[in-house]
Amino acid sequence: MSTVMQVANLFGEIEPAERRPAEPVEGPFASVALEQSIDRTLSYSIPPRLIHSLKIGQRVRVPLGRRNRPARGYVISIQPTTDYAKGGPIKKVLEIEDERVLVGPALMELARWMSRYYVTPLGTVLESVIPSAVKKKVGLGYTQIVRLAQEREAVQGILEKTRAPKRRAIMARLLQLEPGGSIELVRLAGESGATPPTVRKLIRLGLITVTAEVDLPRLTANMGPAAGDGAEPDIALNEDQQKAFNQLLPRLKASSRVGSIESPKIVAPLSPSPGTPAFGSEAQARRGEGRGEGLQRFERDPHPNPLPEYREREPDADAVRLSLAEQHSGKETNPLSISNSSPGFSVNLLLGVTGSGKTEVYLQCIREVVNAGRQAIVLVPEIALTPQTVRRFTARFKSVAILHSGLTATDRHRYWQMISTGQAQVVVGARSAVFAPLPNLGIIVVDEEHEASYKQDTAPRYHGRDVAIKRAQLESIPIILGSATPSLETYWKAAGAVSGQSSVVSGQPTASSRRPERSEGSLTPSVVSGQSAAPPKYHFLELPRRVRGLSMPHVELVDMKQENRFRRGVHLLSQRLEHLLRTTIESKRQAILLLNRRGYSNFVYCASCTNVIQCKYCDVTMTYHRTAGEHPGSASNAAAVHTGQLHCHYCLAVNPLPTACPKCGKLVSLFGLGTQRVEEEISQKFPDLKFARVDGDTMRNSRDYETLLGRFARGEIQVMLGTQMIAKGLDYPNVTLVGVISGDTALALPDFRAAERTFQLITQVAGRAGRGDNPGRVVLQTFLPDDPTIQAAIRQDYAGFARGELVSRREVGLPPFARMVRIVLRDQEQPKLSKMSEELAAKLADAAIAEGGAVTTKGPMPCAISRIAGYYRNQIVMTCATAGPLQRILAAVREKGGLAKSDKIAVDVDPVSLL
Ligand code: ADP
Ligand code: ZN
Repeated sequence: MSTVMQVANLFGEIEPAERRPAEPVEGPFASVALEQSIDRTLSYSIPPRLIHSLKIGQRVRVPLGRRNRPARGYVISIQPTTDYAKGGPIKKVLEIEDERVLVGPALMELARWMSRYYVTPLGTVLESVIPSAVKKKVGLGYTQIVRLAQEREAVQGILEKTRAPKRRAIMARLLQLEPGGSIELVRLAGESGATPPTVRKLIRLGLITVTAEVDLPRLTANMGPAAGDGAEPDIALNEDQQKAFNQLLPRLKASSRVGSIESPKIVAPLSPSPGTPAFGSEAQARRGEGRGEGLQRFERDPHPNPLPEYREREPDADAVRLSLAEQHSGKETNPLSISNSSPGFSVNLLLGVTGSGKTEVYLQCIREVVNAGRQAIVLVPEIALTPQTVRRFTARFKSVAILHSGLTATDRHRYWQMISTGQAQVVVGARSAVFAPLPNLGIIVVDEEHEASYKQDTAPRYHGRDVAIKRAQLESIPIILGSATPSLETYWKAAGAVSGQSSVVSGQPTASSRRPERSEGSLTPSVVSGQSAAPPKYHFLELPRRVRGLSMPHVELVDMKQENRFRRGVHLLSQRLEHLLRTTIESKRQAILLLNRRGYSNFVYCASCTNVIQCKYCDVTMTYHRTAGEHPGSASNAAAVHTGQLHCHYCLAVNPLPTACPKCGKLVSLFGLGTQRVEEEISQKFPDLKFARVDGDTMRNSRDYETLLGRFARGEIQVMLGTQMIAKGLDYPNVTLVGVISGDTALALPDFRAAERTFQLITQVAGRAGRGDNPGRVVLQTFLPDDPTIQAAIRQDYAGFARGELVSRREVGLPPFARMVRIVLRDQEQPKLSKMSEELAAKLADAAIAEGGAVTTKGPMPCAISRIAGYYRNQIVMTCATAGPLQRILAAVREKGGLAKSDKIAVDVDPVSLL
């Protein structure tokens, strides 16, 4: 059975072979991944007129289905033969949508890996890789381009026989072009005195062609915003930074040497000259000058040719490579054969406490790479894309492209075009910036690598950090993962590298000397590892101290159970926090208060029948949001959600607050806290305070957020209260107090990463304090003073936290000691959901037999939130010590179409959230 026939059965879309119009099959053939989520690539023959212009990575139009309706897709490969219906009819590629190669070789390989690894149709992956503004050519103008349609000699012959002077003038001018060259119609007309009828005549005679081509030079002509003056000098690194930098340097160099020797890269010209097609390498290829046709152009150098000196300096380079290969060793999951090695590839964890100057290390590494003529990608969480971060990059480099969510479609397209032609030295952006098509990428930095927002929650459900690692491997370049609180997955892979060095985890001298109870020593494999032989997979670098000798902020705990015992009424601010807030305000310093929950109160409760008001469509409680104008003293944004109603944070349903319990008719009360309730208390206790609440309700877009941070920087706001939005990346020297209103909000979540999240959030927000010359204080309010996570957070003891958490994760076989796949199924009708879940579970179980007992399957069972927006939800969770078996099981079920219902079945590989 042929590939296409299978597709027909699966999707009822593709016409069966016998009904196709009989056409002779002529190679070559193109495999095309369609944009609509068909989980196969389809073969099409390439008509002669397109043979020379069609390339891998182009967007094309092809006929689909019985009615041959035109569909769009990407050319994935070009082969001389096809295994589809040999000798039978096959449809033809209709047209090239965009002459540009939208997906270059490295990105194509990355996309193919993502398609396999994240169990997503390749077309859907490519939808994420290519911004839709690029696809839709937003903002592009068109220019009429004239080319000779015949060989020069033939035209020369015709010219000699032609009398008509205008025609002669045009032909003579065109013969002056270099072979294969072209000229804008306007210019040709001007220079040869041609008129439209003459041009039409020449087209009719088959001597010239006129095509409307996109005017790329005009698109990026007046680009201001990719600014950066590069004027600011580098800061002199301190001892710790220098040490980390020195360790990185050979790896940066290894990559650039390797890169210049191997890994063929398509380098587009910096500034395409007007009038010539701006597709650089394609134009060359057309003239037979480049690396030739599609097939060869895509093959990587089969000879890895690792540099011997490099090997000596980096003895564990092979270990890194092999371990990655082993990680992805499922069938078809490892796109790299071992022989296709990546000698410049290295993964480097930079664990630096908050305020230790990690960014300066990134900047100077990038400087090395840029000086070698290559480019860099810096991934940051979207919320960290503040003017502060942006300025640090634009001040150092001449050409920086900032990809943030507020860009217009035209700007997005412009940036993409600039980036793809090598005009941007550095790309800074959130998750999807990992796909920036830099022609000669030299380094990737993932800042705050532990951030859950790097994971996309729609298909393809990829993790930006992991895709970045894969890209670095494919491009043979180093990657730096930076964090003060690395994910345990990353830390564990780097931990082997530090066993035996006590400095690693005892790194915060101020804290450790002050607090004898903090754990000393390193995370030795004997403590947590069952696989003591496992080599370190990542390099470990650390910045254990803050810059300029600044001390870590002092964290103190307030036990809210004790607090409430001695006070009347409800107080969300403890006496201690209130006192410190007052002295901070009086001494003209600033404070940040964290409460990671928006709204006023997160449940509405009936004391007599214990009924809690739930969303009608979701298995969650409704959150009460206060009415606008109730507290005019607040500096909150006027456009905020102020409704005096109940909101569902999952399906966004809004209901009035009932006056009585819907079940028993008695009075209901508001329980639980949210930012609005703290705001209310602050406005009562500090009526004249210059204050702002910062959460998803007051901040509608990145503009709001920028404006707010500007006001905070200028001191127009003295205290900010917010959700995790304010916990990250902010560097304001006047902030001396940080208050964590409730350290417990995330601890109770039914997710094995609850403790990790809690520790990270507290540490990150605590790190905002004391970045200037005045020491910082942190007040951590909690109802769980003895909880080990809270205790570790008080000590700011990442290593101690990680050790304890790793021990318990290993006991129960959770990541990083296992790989996990979560499949969520949903349906509006419960019986249908049950049936679908059981069927899928059976298929998975069948496929699992081949893997022996390697895989543990839990479920189907209801998700922690068992209904969202009217859909019942079930989950199946599979874990295994390595990724291979999971990948093979998924591939087997996918092959048979068992995962095709993408609107009902979501496969989440390496999930970061289990709700
Ligand atoms: P992190 O990202 O580790 O929290 P940052 O990179 O934001 O730390 O650095 C904190 C501050 O320290 C920044 O204002 C930065 O300019 C400054 N800084 C960085 N390196 C040095 C240094 N070597 N000497 C003095 N100040 C530095
Ligand atoms: Zn809801």
